[in-house]
Amino acid sequence: MKLILLGAPGAGKGTQAELLQKALQAPVISTGNLLRAAIAEGSKLGLAAKEYMDGGRLVPDELIISLVQEKLAAPECAHGAIFDGFPRTVAQAEALDGIGGADAALSIEVSDAEIEERMCGRRTCPNCQTTYHIMHNPPRREGVCDKCGAALGIRKDDEPGVVKERLRIYHEQTEPLIEYYRAQGKLREVPGQGTVTETTALIFKALGICS
Ligand code: AMP
Repeated sequence: MKLILLGAPGAGKGTQAELLQKALQAPVISTGNLLRAAIAEGSKLGLAAKEYMDGGRLVPDELIISLVQEKLAAPECAHGAIFDGFPRTVAQAEALDGIGGADAALSIEVSDAEIEERMCGRRTCPNCQTTYHIMHNPPRREGVCDKCGAALGIRKDDEPGVVKERLRIYHEQTEPLIEYYRAQGKLREVPGQGTVTETTALIFKALGICS
């Protein structure tokens, strides 16, 4: 199954993608994580992407599309994948349709006010990129990643001014994908205002997965 997770930054796509990975036995393709890894490596892609990401803007479609094409061609994606943060524009969705498309697009819906509150408390592991929230999804030990033990930090693009710009761009460029996938009959909408566990239950129900 190829599943797309749609939703504003901070809606919970990354957290839910990880939980779905276990249930669906499919790898997660997170373009944000791939880009941050490219920046950390200092690769050509990383150098090209950094300025856009730091400003909360989208990385150009052609860079993203070739990155995803490369990942999808890997043997572990032969039976499907969960897309976190891709597609983010209609051009990206059309490119994905050109290489087989997706089976379903799940939109996690959270209000802008809640997103801004969540982003203030978000902490990210710079090593394995797992995200936490200081109140709603804290690590077992304060400031330390549960998975790899690295010290948690605040992503540059989670700062309040950048979050506002990311939300503006989400509404302008990514939200139209909701109608795009509705028109294809592939859209499932789930409210994401509740706790991680509540949202997971709603997602599993919407996808017909037994939890
Ligand atoms: P994320 O971790 O998904 O919130 O992504 C962080 C940043 O990476 C975004 O604000 C964009 O600058 C960039 N990015 C991630 N995925 C995409 C995409 N599909 N298209 C364009 N830019 C992206």
